[in-house]
Amino acid sequence: MKKHNFYAGPSIMPDFTKEKVAEATMNFAGTGLSVMEVSHRSKEFVAVMDEAIALVKELLKVPEGYSVLFLQGGASLQFLMAPYNLMNTKAAYTNTGAWAKAAIKEAKFFGEVVEVASSADANYNYIPKGYEIPDDVDYFHFTSNNTIFGTEVRIDPDVKVPVVCDMSSDIFSRPVDVSKYALIYAGAQKNLGPSGATLVIVRNDVLGKVTRPIPTMLDYRTHIKGESMFNTPATVPVFGCLQTLLWLKEQGGVEGIEKVNIAKAQLLYSELDRNKMFKPSVPNPEDRSRMNVTFVMTEGYELFEKEFDVFAESKGMVGLKGHRSVGGFRASIYNALPLESVQALVDVMKEFEALKA
Ligand SMILES: *Cc1c(COP(=O)(O)O)cnc(C)c1O
Repeated sequence: MKKHNFYAGPSIMPDFTKEKVAEATMNFAGTGLSVMEVSHRSKEFVAVMDEAIALVKELLKVPEGYSVLFLQGGASLQFLMAPYNLMNTKAAYTNTGAWAKAAIKEAKFFGEVVEVASSADANYNYIPKGYEIPDDVDYFHFTSNNTIFGTEVRIDPDVKVPVVCDMSSDIFSRPVDVSKYALIYAGAQKNLGPSGATLVIVRNDVLGKVTRPIPTMLDYRTHIKGESMFNTPATVPVFGCLQTLLWLKEQGGVEGIEKVNIAKAQLLYSELDRNKMFKPSVPNPEDRSRMNVTFVMTEGYELFEKEFDVFAESKGMVGLKGHRSVGGFRASIYNALPLESVQALVDVMKEFEALKA
């Protein structure tokens, strides 16, 4: 039976990425060796890293003066690397979900955190708006897509202070104006490649301004100077990221994939708005994520939750269970998930409604 992969991360990858990784696992770039057994300093692997960085710059139109890095440690290490490198005394954060909260917790090790807005009062089911960011903070941090709660900010902020953004779960899903950001970071395992690589895009002139000493591995400048090869990079994940970037270019880049993502999200949200057994857990349509669609059973149908889970699984749906802090369901519909899989889920919901409601 065909599987429809709705896992939140690690998550669905393009067939192209999987095929190329499989080939290179046995014979990488004609070397007769596996991509996992060649030196990261070999000319073949250096070419992979160079091309991956060049494609990130091309697809996101990264302006001059920025560095693109492939690091390790996931977005979770960026929660502390960002303040380590950028915070002297104070930073502003929005608290829009579990990952934002985790970022705030780490930032507090380095100085004062001003929580400028929060949606904790409604279990993070909306994006707070109309808040002010003080002028005297070293930077403003936000999470563009709240993977667990299914909300997303699609506006590049126009503020006076440097902007830092965790784009782990919506990077490359739509165009962004990189010039509005001082630092963007993302774990690979949602829209980019196998877990183990972390993408960082940093504006060079924001570095070197903190007074504290920074340990070598945690200093962005080390990795800029080392061209993401200061120490051994995550070679196989970076190879996987490159394949996805090549695939994305074939889809018309972020502009092309955004159209597909809008169509997928519309298809699913309109069924959730129509079907009497289900409803989206984010009430305001403009706050709803195009990547992680969270939903629950409507009043009176709560008892059918487990049954729907089993029913959907019997139809090949994988990874639909909501995060334990939200309950219900979550369909992660990242770039690589085809429209047919969203249609299949919609069909299953309709079928369930016809059977039970
Ligand atoms: C998955 C995720 C993280 C955590 O990433 P790791 O690579 O596991 O550290 C952080 N932020 C967001 C928005 C995420 O989706």
